[in-house]
Amino acid sequence: MIPVTKPYLPCREKFDRYIDGIYDRTWLTNNGKLVQELTQRLEEYLEVENLLLVANGTLALQIAYRALCVTGRHEPIEAITTPFTFVATASSLKWEGVEPVFADIDPNSWCLNPSNIEDKITANTRAIVPVHVFGNACDVETIVTIAKKNNISVIYDASHAFGVKYKGQSLLKYGDAATLSFHATKLFHTGEGGAIIFKRKEDLERAKKMINFGITGPETIEELGINAKMSELQAAMGLCVLDEMEENLQARAGVWIRYEQALSDLLQLQTKPEALGYNYAYFPVVFENEEQAIRVEAILKENGVLARRYFYPSLGSLKYLDVHLDQPVSKDIASRILCLPIFAQLKNCTQDKIIEIITHELRR
Ligand SMILES: *Cc1c(COP(=O)(O)O)cnc(C)c1O
Repeated sequence: MIPVTKPYLPCREKFDRYIDGIYDRTWLTNNGKLVQELTQRLEEYLEVENLLLVANGTLALQIAYRALCVTGRHEPIEAITTPFTFVATASSLKWEGVEPVFADIDPNSWCLNPSNIEDKITANTRAIVPVHVFGNACDVETIVTIAKKNNISVIYDASHAFGVKYKGQSLLKYGDAATLSFHATKLFHTGEGGAIIFKRKEDLERAKKMINFGITGPETIEELGINAKMSELQAAMGLCVLDEMEENLQARAGVWIRYEQALSDLLQLQTKPEALGYNYAYFPVVFENEEQAIRVEAILKENGVLARRYFYPSLGSLKYLDVHLDQPVSKDIASRILCLPIFAQLKNCTQDKIIEIITHELRR
C-alpha cells in the first residue's frame, strides 16, 4: 500500500553515532546535551527565539495554555478555535478544563475565519487557538487585532507549519505562543516530540519548570508541574532529520508541484496568501461533492493507494464537547476533502498512477 505519508528516515550511520554518544555519556533525558543542541539548532533554522522542546505536540499545546494562564482549573473558561483540524487541538483544551468554542473556517484558506471570532467572545473567553492548517497561514494580522482589543491570548497550533515563512519571516513568530508537533508523520520529526515557541522569555521560563514537575533544584519544588520532557533519543533523531531537511524539502516540493500542475484545473486547492513561503507538507484536494471524494478514495484503495480524509469529521460533531452548533463551511470542506500521498521517497511513476486514477474518475 502507498501511504498518505511516510516517516522520513535519516542516515542510519549518523544516527548510530549519536546513540554511541548517548551510551558514552550515560545520559538519556532531563535536558541533556542533544536536547540542548537541537534547541539551539532549531532556533537558528526556524529563525525564532524562546523555543522549548517537549515530549509531543499535544503536550506542547497543553503547556502553552498553562504557561499563558489559559486553564480551567479555577473557573469555567473558554477558547475559540477551529473545527477543521486534527482532534488534538480541541481535545487538549477540553483536557485542560477549557471549553473549546468553534468558529467556522474560511472556505478558501480553510483556516479560522476572523469575522466569525468576535461574536463568540464572552466574559469567559481567555484565548484564541487558531490552526495554520496544512501549513497555510491564518489571517494573523486580523487575529492579533481582535485579541488585543479583547485582551485575550493567541496560541497557534502550528503543527503543520514547520519552516513556513510569511512576509519573509517565520510564521511561528505570530501569537503569544506557537506549537509544533514532531510526530513521526510530520515534515520534521523526532519520532514523538514537539516544541513551543514563546513570544516572551518569562513565559518560556515558566514553561521550563512546568515540563519537569515544577522542580527547580535538588530539593525545591516551586509549583505544580507535569512530565513533558523530550529525551536524548528523540533529540538524536531530530538532529539527523534536520541535517537532511534540504533534500527532504526539495523532494516534497517536486511531488507537490507535479500534483498541482496535473490537478489544479480539475479540483479545488487551498488558497494561500502571496507572501507565504510554503513547506510542501500536505497535498489536500476538495472534490465537487462527498460521493465523488468517497468514490475516488475507494478506487485509489483498490489500486493500493491510501488517500486520507483529513480532517474528517469536522470537530463540531464530537460527542464529548458541549457545543453542538454547526459550522457549515468546515462541515462541507471536511466532507469533500482528500489528502493525497506526499513524501520524499514517492516515485514519479507511482504519482503518475495516482494522478491518472483521479483524472479518469473526474472525466467519467
Ligand atoms: C499532529 C498534530 C497534533 C498533535 O501532535 P502529537 O505530536 O501527535 O501529539 C496537534 N495538532 C495538529 C494540527 C496536528 O496535526
